[in-house]
Amino acid sequence: MAELWLTLADLPEQGREVHIADQSVWKDPVHEFQIQASIAVPLTARLFLLPGPEGLLVRGDIAGQVQMPCDRCTRNVRIDLEAGFEVFEAYAPEEQEGQGAEGLITDRQGTPELNAAELLWEQFLLALPTKPLCSETCRGLCPKCGQDLNDGSCSCDSEGSDPRMAVFKNLKIKS
Ligand SMILES: [Zn+2]
Ligand SMILES: [Zn+2]
Repeated sequence: MAELWLTLADLPEQGREVHIADQSVWKDPVHEFQIQASIAVPLTARLFLLPGPEGLLVRGDIAGQVQMPCDRCTRNVRIDLEAGFEVFEAYAPEEQEGQGAEGLITDRQGTPELNAAELLWEQFLLALPTKPLCSETCRGLCPKCGQDLNDGSCSCDSEGSDPRMAVFKNLKIKS
């Protein structure tokens, strides 16, 4: 997992905008967690950090393009990412230290720092479609022979009708 820490020590009261274009923030965990996605157009992120008395407000967005396999036919689909988000992160309370419940803000050598890599990774995952489709009308793969039905019907289709429907053929409606 890539590391990217933003120090909060010298944040001005009115906040600060940070731009991130280091692809390893997304590329490393995509590889590490074997996510079915690759970056097609480099991602860029903007983070606006606004400090408050209780915590940090992070407003931001991620833009770029990823490539993912279609959920039905497995063909590669390019997906435009344009995700805005707003996260409030409380300053790490002392008693949580060492309990494994680590937030996005950690005290590092006496300075509070934001784990920007973790934040941007979480937001990237949230922005990915759970069922990417090459097209709304994608016909998918034949469950029997695996043929891509977008390329045309396979022979499984044309071999007679559904056997379950044959029962109804012989039904006669009594009048
Ligand atoms: Zn498809
Ligand atoms: Zn088939």
